[in-house]
Amino acid sequence: MHIAAHRVVHIHYTLTDDGGMVLDSSAGGDPLVYLHGVGNLVPGLEKALEGKQRGDKVSVTVPPEEGYGPRDESLVQQVPRRAFKGLRELKPGMRLHAESAHGPGLVSVVAVTGDLVTVDGNHALAGQRLNFQVEIAQVREATAEEVLHGHVHGAGGHSH
Ligand code: ZN
Repeated sequence: MHIAAHRVVHIHYTLTDDGGMVLDSSAGGDPLVYLHGVGNLVPGLEKALEGKQRGDKVSVTVPPEEGYGPRDESLVQQVPRRAFKGLRELKPGMRLHAESAHGPGLVSVVAVTGDLVTVDGNHALAGQRLNFQVEIAQVREATAEEVLHGHVHGAGGHSH
């Protein structure tokens, strides 16, 4: 069975940056299970997997435009420390939920200087090329309910 829209796909994958550093990997663990064709993976990776089948190995370099998008420097903002009242500690590298000009989202703390906190609302992988090594472990038809929900049920998926 080939990978196509509304099929459930199990993959093992390793994601590296252009320097060869491993950013994420399923090696040694359970495969990633996703519903194909509904945007559960970044667009460039879904495109590369389309039409492949169990046992196929895929190497693909995904540009930022088809990954987590280009970096948007306007999402780097300085916020007064008091905006984070209730947080005892603020340190560079922390990720927290915050309101921004673009609505609520995850931000990373870049720097804390006196009373000013610099936060970055970009996805941690925005602006980066993503190098995926993928092996397809299984492909099956999704159930009508999975298609309706837009995600996989059972092992590796939602259990509700
Ligand atoms: Zn569901």
